[in-house]
Amino acid sequence: MDGGFIDCHCHISAAEFTKDTDDVIKRAKEAGVRMLISVTEEASEFEMAVQLSKSYSGLLAPCVGIHPVQCSDSRQHRSVTIQIGLDFTPWYTPYPQQRAEQQQVFRKQLEIAKEMDLPVNVHSRSAARQTISVLKEQGIGRALLHNFAGRPSVAMEGVKAGYCFSFPPAACRNEQRATVIKQIPLEHICLETDSPALGPDKHVRNEPKNIVLSCEYIAKVKSLTPEKVREATTWNAVRLFPRIGKILNQMTEPVLETDQQNKK
Ligand SMILES: [Zn+2]
Repeated sequence: MDGGFIDCHCHISAAEFTKDTDDVIKRAKEAGVRMLISVTEEASEFEMAVQLSKSYSGLLAPCVGIHPVQCSDSRQHRSVTIQIGLDFTPWYTPYPQQRAEQQQVFRKQLEIAKEMDLPVNVHSRSAARQTISVLKEQGIGRALLHNFAGRPSVAMEGVKAGYCFSFPPAACRNEQRATVIKQIPLEHICLETDSPALGPDKHVRNEPKNIVLSCEYIAKVKSLTPEKVREATTWNAVRLFPRIGKILNQMTEPVLETDQQNKK
């Protein structure tokens, strides 16, 4: 049975969506999106995220946590996952001290995730190797590395640890990303949009309905049908985020013959 798409990383509580949330969700549904994992970037959004999950019950699941480029300490208990990460982009974090602080906050949030038995939704930028090694060192079993832009060899480290990777529509503009997508087995790939950011057009607000573009691109890169990619990525997402629930019961397990490229 068709499970539809799961957008594993989008920001519905972002200010960009406050005026027309209903329409955005409606368009997502029409495009076949079955579940949105709505990620927060700061503590002030937590309440909104939980509220949205009530308003769009069965369609939207909250993922609370804080973006690495800020530090605060908050806990929320209704989340299906925790968003965290490391961002060592030079213009954000030119000083070693800032990087050390990020590592500290990252570890702290990983501890909370472990304590609460939640999967983690990880942002890593210019810090792929460090991120994966901290995750492994902390004994994290379930992690999604969103908008992964590290090297294929680093990605494979994550694959070995059982982690998943997701790619937004903007990744379709990037040749380098195709190499990583080709390498990562389909069993470890999920779909995301990162809406309102990282859409197909840099200057236009991104929406979860554009998940179709990520799916088509991954299918093209891996020489698979979009249906196959949709089915597999949804299956992967439900395994990774078991609290999003009933979808799995309505699906039959896809035959995940690993893509040919990976077998060669
Ligand atoms: Zn994001």
